[in-house]
Amino acid sequence: MDLFDKFYRGLSSSDLKNMGLYPFFRSIHSAQNPEVVVNGKRMVMTGSNNYLGLNDHPQVKKAAMDAIKKFGTGCAGSRFLNGNLTLHEELERKLAKFFHREAALVFSTGFQTNLGCISSLVGREDVVIIDRWDHASILDGCRMSFGDVKKFRHNNMEDLERILIQENDRGKLIIVDGVFSMEGDVANLPEISHLAKQYGARVMVDDAHGIGVMGESGRGTLEHFGLNREIDILMGTFSKSLASIGGFIAGDMDIIDYVKHHARSLIFSASIPPPSAAAVSKALDIIEQEPERREPLWKNAHKMLEGFKSLGFDTGFSETPIIPIIIGDDMKVLQFWKILHEQGVFANPVINPGVPKGRSLIRTSFMATHTAKQLDKVLNAFEKAGKKLKII
Ligand code: PMP
Repeated sequence: MDLFDKFYRGLSSSDLKNMGLYPFFRSIHSAQNPEVVVNGKRMVMTGSNNYLGLNDHPQVKKAAMDAIKKFGTGCAGSRFLNGNLTLHEELERKLAKFFHREAALVFSTGFQTNLGCISSLVGREDVVIIDRWDHASILDGCRMSFGDVKKFRHNNMEDLERILIQENDRGKLIIVDGVFSMEGDVANLPEISHLAKQYGARVMVDDAHGIGVMGESGRGTLEHFGLNREIDILMGTFSKSLASIGGFIAGDMDIIDYVKHHARSLIFSASIPPPSAAAVSKALDIIEQEPERREPLWKNAHKMLEGFKSLGFDTGFSETPIIPIIIGDDMKVLQFWKILHEQGVFANPVINPGVPKGRSLIRTSFMATHTAKQLDKVLNAFEKAGKKLKII
């Protein structure tokens, strides 16, 4: 058998390009704003996770530039040895305080955070229990650990309990997304933390899409449910509401210190660059000082959820600014994407393995800074595409 055989099976990226249906790696010539420029054409952006619009905020940009002036553009090594700046330590103190935890630990990406944290915590004797729809980085972190991996049906608490009963004698870590990244539904954290207590499991929540969005003060899905210490490890990324790149965990000092000295993705990889760390720090200040920023975000999310539903689209169980339009068939999703693209709407097609087979969708996500006019244009384009493809 030839290792290269797999390149010639099924539809390749060049087949899709020839059909005019290749939707990936689009070149954007502008910032992640409600409108972006793609190949000289202005498009309404419904595919960005810049929920609060802080990516292009003057104060966030100034903080990043000031950090470059003082610390330069990169750290030339890992935090473990030569790349640990006072900027990183200040950010960790700020994150711990913001999320009411003893300590926090900053990584260079959200993906690396999950890889390093999960693989260092879950040992040979342990089992890690994850929701089937958890983010790919959680799954990869589990694969890299020496423990067993068990998956429960999406947000299905009976299935989770079945596994907890089976695994009664082992060390157990349950990991879920707070807000699920593709369909925008929310994990049943009250029941998960209840079951965890009952069966002696630990809980970690990846709140990449909840931070800045959920909860009365934007502290995320834990705040939304009035939980905090019931969840052992809070994980988040800086690449969404926090306007940058990087990730963190927050929790009890002992756990954080253990991960700090065992996570290979932290120890053997260069630290988050100064401008990125400074941008996160400023974004946190703004979230804290301007809670009113979330009002237009939720107004826009509700308008779009109602708008899509009244057009007859299936939006799954979304309750957040991430709204999926579930279509099911991969080819139809690509055709739908193309019509949207031609109408000047930037949206993300998601096909297997990004979502389970049969659940292919167009993923939309909205920002505090979208205008009503832009959103109406989006609804019009979706209506046109839906009618043309006989989905509505
Ligand atoms: N967790 C979730 C739930 C995510 O959606 C993402 C990114 N899409 C990540 C982790 C990885 O974060 P990053 O892109 O910052 O590496």
